[in-house]
Amino acid sequence: MQRRNFVKAAVLGSSAGLLLSSCAPGDIGAPSVQTGDPSLRWRLVSSFSRGLDTIFGAAEVLAERVSHLTGGRFRILVYPAGELVPAFEVLESVQKGTAQMGHTASYYYIGKNPALAFDTTVPFGLTARQFNGWVYHGGGMDLLRSLFADYNVINFPGGNTGVQMGGWFNREVNAVSDLRGLSMRIPGMGGRVMDRLGVAVQQIPGGEIYPALERGAIDAAEWVGPYDDEKLGFAQVARYYYYPGWWEPGANLSFYVSRAAWNQLPSHYQHAVAVAAAEANLDMLSRYDAVNPASFRRLVEGGTEVRAFPRDVMDAAFASAEALLQEGTADPEYAKIFDAYTQWRQDATAWFGTSEQTFADYMHGH
Ligand code: CA
Repeated sequence: MQRRNFVKAAVLGSSAGLLLSSCAPGDIGAPSVQTGDPSLRWRLVSSFSRGLDTIFGAAEVLAERVSHLTGGRFRILVYPAGELVPAFEVLESVQKGTAQMGHTASYYYIGKNPALAFDTTVPFGLTARQFNGWVYHGGGMDLLRSLFADYNVINFPGGNTGVQMGGWFNREVNAVSDLRGLSMRIPGMGGRVMDRLGVAVQQIPGGEIYPALERGAIDAAEWVGPYDDEKLGFAQVARYYYYPGWWEPGANLSFYVSRAAWNQLPSHYQHAVAVAAAEANLDMLSRYDAVNPASFRRLVEGGTEVRAFPRDVMDAAFASAEALLQEGTADPEYAKIFDAYTQWRQDATAWFGTSEQTFADYMHGH
């Protein structure tokens, strides 16, 4: 506990005030570069392929801003999945110091610790806005930083997809029983829930989903939403596009920084990383919000059959997800995060349900 508190103090003391910069992109003045600032080149390993400009692009947004803020002295080189390390080994690689930074989804690592899911998203969890409220201003960051201290990693929110789609299916889902025996690509806790509902769950990196669907190795796959899914061509190899992605109501991607590397940075370089991460976080969500609507329209016009998951599937998934999430609470560290997260969700749902949702429902009805 003592070690964690120390880490927390060291990390938060230097960056907490900068997690949300008041500087808007394009409104940033000349960087204050000091003589004697070190020239650094870091490696950042991503879990995503270069072609996914929204999700992979967040790491490039961060790298570019850090370079700008340090007069070009601090360069972060971004490596797509598979170039230095495989897609699902980003945490390990930053933990070991193979790379100083990573950009990934923490729920890829729930095999190490299920609590890591709360850093990304859990089934029926927080939306992007609710999550950002929780991490930046609701105590979530402290809890997640303590969790990542176990891996010698300092984590920063690094982009959000918003509510995802439920994915591409070549079989209709009209009832819970239709999930039995279905082979589907779906990661994280959502995959565990699907497994309990009878789905044969597959873990496949984003770049390999298309060929798997095409050759019928899987019946269904989820990735993100209209923009990415259109780009990956899923409409050519699957007929039905289901919604909502109840397992990912707001998938938060994360930047990882090796604690040893972080501790060697001058404090204004640390600030540059924190500010750039916050910018990348906002940038990804707003990019998705900018490009998804047109992609969605094109997919529908192109003949994709958009279907809502039936109520009994939603209810079965909800019950199964709640039971699954509850099981982790035998571990005190998990329980602490779970309690805070679920309390936050309860209050946030009541408020957003009254404000955002009522308004959105009315507008959607028009
Ligand atoms: Ca997804």
